[in-house]
Amino acid sequence: MNSPENPLGPSRLLDELTWSNSFASLPAGFYTKLTPTPLPNPYRVAVSTRAAELIGLAPSEFDTDEFLTAFSGNRPLPQSESLAAVYSGHQFGVWAGQLGDGRAILLGETLAPTEPSGSLELQLKGAGKTPYSRMGDGRAVLRSSIREFLCSEAMAGLGIPTSRALCIVGSDMRVMREQPETTAVVTRMAPSFVRFGSFEHWFYNQKPDELKLLADYVLEKIYPHLLDTANPYQALLKEVTHRTAELVAHWQTVGFMHGVLNTDNMSIVGQTLDYGPFGFMEAYEPAHICNHTDQQGRYSYRMQPRIGEWNCYALGQAMVALIGGVDETQEALAVYNPSYEAKIASLWRAKLGLQSAEPGDMELVESLLDAMASNRVDFSLLFRRLSSLKIDDPSHDTAVRDLFIDRALFDAWTVNYRRRLKRESSSDEARKSAMDRVNPKFVLRNYLAQVAIQKAEQKDFSEIEILLTLLENPFDEHPQYESYAELPPDWAAHIEVSCSS
Ligand code: AMP
Ligand code: MG
Repeated sequence: MNSPENPLGPSRLLDELTWSNSFASLPAGFYTKLTPTPLPNPYRVAVSTRAAELIGLAPSEFDTDEFLTAFSGNRPLPQSESLAAVYSGHQFGVWAGQLGDGRAILLGETLAPTEPSGSLELQLKGAGKTPYSRMGDGRAVLRSSIREFLCSEAMAGLGIPTSRALCIVGSDMRVMREQPETTAVVTRMAPSFVRFGSFEHWFYNQKPDELKLLADYVLEKIYPHLLDTANPYQALLKEVTHRTAELVAHWQTVGFMHGVLNTDNMSIVGQTLDYGPFGFMEAYEPAHICNHTDQQGRYSYRMQPRIGEWNCYALGQAMVALIGGVDETQEALAVYNPSYEAKIASLWRAKLGLQSAEPGDMELVESLLDAMASNRVDFSLLFRRLSSLKIDDPSHDTAVRDLFIDRALFDAWTVNYRRRLKRESSSDEARKSAMDRVNPKFVLRNYLAQVAIQKAEQKDFSEIEILLTLLENPFDEHPQYESYAELPPDWAAHIEVSCSS
């Protein structure tokens, strides 16, 4: 996927970017103004050229001291009014009270003409303590920063709404997690970092005026087209609910598990936000839990669609008075299921190479998923290889068939699949090329991230660059990196992703 042409024209130097901070125009109770805590002896770990392009930042800047000092938090950006925002939220279904940016500092926003909002906010994650740090040290370790950086850019490569990651700046300074680890700062970008929990914060604190100010701010900045509707607050909830439903549908069809779908990690823009113990499904198991602290499986793969809806209800609850009634609020929330179902159906159909819609299509998908579950088939490999099937010649099935232990089960499914394909007019070649554009060959498997992390801890950042190239173009072949698309090696079965970050 190529990045769109950037109307900013020739790339700019860092000092040529203009900064403002619209969030800072909200009353003082919404945030605490502060500057990042300096990061000792920062060094560059990784940069995303594609993310930089969004704000028109020239690659020639990446090697400069200005770049390092700005994105380590060691030098304030001109005209920026940096701050940490307050929010609250439900964590694991329980009201957690006040949270807030405990280690992320919003620098401000700059022009991003290809974005619908026209601008992107930049935030330094791991930039030191804030009044919302509670017991935390305000830092992020290199390990979790690499995971956030790579997954943000991988999701963008997959065409899934996400906050972006501009760069990682590292330091030899150590902080304590399960063991001492080196720290880093990730610069992330989003049209807004307002969360569902930002709304809940004012609702639970019984501050309706602040709640209204926040809703007006979000409407104006992200959803200005809704301002003219009869009930803009209802329209806002409806749009956020719709976007959230579509986002979760995207996740399900690439096997992405967020891991911590607390309402404070839910973006009001409808993007994937706050990458922590996330995972991509490997051996397919609908009940899979990628976050080891989630003992009940609240955020397991199969629960994500329901949790997405639950979170929209939490947002809705905070907005009832603003919207003007429970019925109107429920009406907005009612878009969740139809939006989810329509989106996931169209995504699954595309993954199977179906051009038209037929009533039995979702049963065809379900029966494939059931067969995958009973055979623990690798999610990404299955869908990628499925395009090699020929309508009239089962001798080409081997690559997919071999992923199943119960081959007869797969063969039985292909009978129905072929029958369905024959009711369409696509050629094998055309179907293959369409399917290969929606079924990624490369996803950020945990072990791939782990290898990159281990090398980076030895100051070798080359693996991050390789992964970034593959994940930015996950639908392309990259023949020299074939092994990155294969089943994880045996040792990877024992990786436990630490939830500390
Ligand atoms: P998370 O689970 O990463 O979404 O974080 C939940 C809350 O804990 C947020 O308010 C974070 O800002 C805060 N937090 C997480 N890690 C740290 C840390 N090392 N220092 C300060 N605050 C943190
Ligand atoms: Mg969070």
